[in-house]
Amino acid sequence: MVSEGDDVPPERGVVLRGTGGVWVVRTTAGETREAALRGRLKQETGIKLAVGDDVVLASDGRGGSWVIVEILPRRSVLARRAPGGGYGERIVAANVDQVIVVFAAAQPEAHPRMIDRFLVIAEANDLEAQVVVNKVDLIDSAAARARFADYTRAGYVVHFTSVRTGAGLPELHAALNGRTSAVSGPSGVGKSSLLNALYPGLNLRVGAVSDAVQKGRHTTVGAWLHPLPDGGFVADTPGLREVGFWGLTAGALDHCFPEFRPWLDTCRFADCTHRVEPGCAVRDAVGRGEVSAVRYESYLRLFAELATDN
Ligand code: GDP
Ligand code: ZN
Repeated sequence: MVSEGDDVPPERGVVLRGTGGVWVVRTTAGETREAALRGRLKQETGIKLAVGDDVVLASDGRGGSWVIVEILPRRSVLARRAPGGGYGERIVAANVDQVIVVFAAAQPEAHPRMIDRFLVIAEANDLEAQVVVNKVDLIDSAAARARFADYTRAGYVVHFTSVRTGAGLPELHAALNGRTSAVSGPSGVGKSSLLNALYPGLNLRVGAVSDAVQKGRHTTVGAWLHPLPDGGFVADTPGLREVGFWGLTAGALDHCFPEFRPWLDTCRFADCTHRVEPGCAVRDAVGRGEVSAVRYESYLRLFAELATDN
């Protein structure tokens, strides 16, 4: 796929961001190049280039400028509804490996419903999620662990961190290393502080972007990918909340609670919604204390919400 009459070898890279037809691509060798998308590519494949895409760059043969000549298959997509309430898919970022949802132990205190909402959005996008409980310096650490035990039991990795004391930072650093992570969570929980403590000089604009999106401005601003000094990327995306429950139906919600999954095939009815049906294995597991009653309550509320939406 090398351009005609050019002997500069093609290079692999990852799209970091794009504005006005100019895409910033980070090559495997660590160089940052600006590139245009080869015009024919969009027509031939129908694929819209997105931040996070793995691409092949070729020199345009005129010296100095680069063209994206191939988009490699995607491992995952984080998508949301088109701005303005339409239903067309809009890809926020491609090839995200995991979602890191950040909450605070206090100031602001995390509420189970909100945590579950973020986790369900990650699950609905088929993305692995890890939980960060930041600001543990503000409360007793045993109390923090007890409060978030439901998430550990559900199978999530939970990091207890403090930017102030440095607690949990090495473990979080290891979890981000070499992977593409979308960091999300309510504002004020310490997302920017955490990332700046882990990667000084990265100049993340996490707070700035999700705030702008919440106010309904800059809806065309896409994600940015920040290369991490030791490998991997952090996607500074419009918050997951804006991604929302795109494409999720009430009937598929049970699969978004990982701890329900072992029971789903044993309910008496194949289409059990786990609310009122007799012989429901999920409700039985809640009754025996094997599935958290708080998480189950979140399921019921989200089910009601999705059932009225769709
Ligand atoms: P973001 O909106 O999620 O990016 O949150 P920020 O990083 O802007 O942090 C919000 C506030 O929480 C700031 O005043 C921070 O100094 C404070 N903060 C962040 N991390 C911690 C922490 O671990 N402990 C305490 N006590 N405060 C923190
Ligand atoms: Zn059931």
